[in-house]
Amino acid sequence: MSKPELWVVAERRLDHIEPTTQQLITKANQLAGDRFHVVAVLLEATTDHLEDELTTYGPDEIRVVRDDRFPTATDAELADALKQLVDAAQPNTVLFGATITGRSIAPRLQAKLQTGLTADCLDLRFDDDTLVATKPSYGDNIMCEIICPDRRPQMATVRPNTFAAQPTPNGAELTTAKVDFHPVTRLHVTAATPVVNTATTVGDASRVVALGRGAASAATIDAATQLAERLGGRIGVSRPLTDQDRFTHDDQIGQSGNTIHPDLILNFGISGAVQYLVGMQDSQTIVSVNSDPNAPIFAASDYGYVGDAQAFMTALLGQFA
Ligand SMILES: Cc1cc2nc3c(=O)[nH]c(=O)nc-3n(C[C@H](O)[C@H](O)[C@H](O)COP(=O)(O)OP(=O)(O)OC[C@H]3O[C@@H](n4cnc5c(N)ncnc54)[C@H](O)[C@@H]3O)c2cc1C
Repeated sequence: MSKPELWVVAERRLDHIEPTTQQLITKANQLAGDRFHVVAVLLEATTDHLEDELTTYGPDEIRVVRDDRFPTATDAELADALKQLVDAAQPNTVLFGATITGRSIAPRLQAKLQTGLTADCLDLRFDDDTLVATKPSYGDNIMCEIICPDRRPQMATVRPNTFAAQPTPNGAELTTAKVDFHPVTRLHVTAATPVVNTATTVGDASRVVALGRGAASAATIDAATQLAERLGGRIGVSRPLTDQDRFTHDDQIGQSGNTIHPDLILNFGISGAVQYLVGMQDSQTIVSVNSDPNAPIFAASDYGYVGDAQAFMTALLGQFA
């Protein structure tokens, strides 16, 4: 019986192989032992020879698919081609680099395959034929081991430079495969009108009025807008408020938003999750208003007020009258 296949999807960067591919092949070889058949899957143009940059890293096989449209294909088109290859070979596991390209193609393929994908991994191991993927979670505070017990292939993206690439004397068998290239309709820009945007970002403001879930009503946001104007500052928000039409991700403060260092930040109705704190904890003066005296935001604040956010704003605005 043939061995289950462990795939590394080779990534092209300009006219070369992205180094994470070689790192992943090395790791795949170590994981495979004699249980898995390691396959580097390479989509390239008919005149390309990118496999030359893979052979020395010794996957068992380099499976090359050639089509002159691949170098300029969209991520959706590449995901479609990979889906056809997966359907044909039924690999046990498919690995991608967690590069910009890998992070775009892997979830598209995962959605087509209706299987599990663990993103941004820092380690991999197998428990029988189940991939155990280790990744940081909860703002990089803990490491989780994630498995996909019921579906195959199991998929993972791995951060670049997590593993070291090592040339090996194994060599690699070169095979070819075919897919039907399905062009995905692209958007055509027929006219472009420049937009003059003079607004500063929350990252530029020296004074920030920051709103969280406890300061999310329309009336509170109106009061905060007046307050920001009076202070000559800008409104920033915690992540939950980016669900509102009035705010976007550009207004968000925190780990997955903006890191800011204003002279003054007023936090209203923000609990102080670590993902928020890392985005503003280096502000010069931090003032926080929260109805919960035990809210973690107070530990990171220079001044705190326990009470209602809108009432505090109204009282403060009264001082400007
Ligand atoms: C990978 C990852 C990345 C993340 N990145 C970010 C990020 O970049 N930015 C971010 O903000 N979050 C981020 N989060 C989410 C984060 O963990 C928190 O869920 C979020 O910050 C909570 O927002 P909050 O404080 O507004 O809401 P909550 O935690 O719900 O807190 C609301 C607070 O309002 C108080 N309150 C309620 N009513 C009133 C009132 N009338 N007056 C005064 N106070 C009141 C409550 O006591 C409470 O403390 C991330 C999470 C993950 C997992």
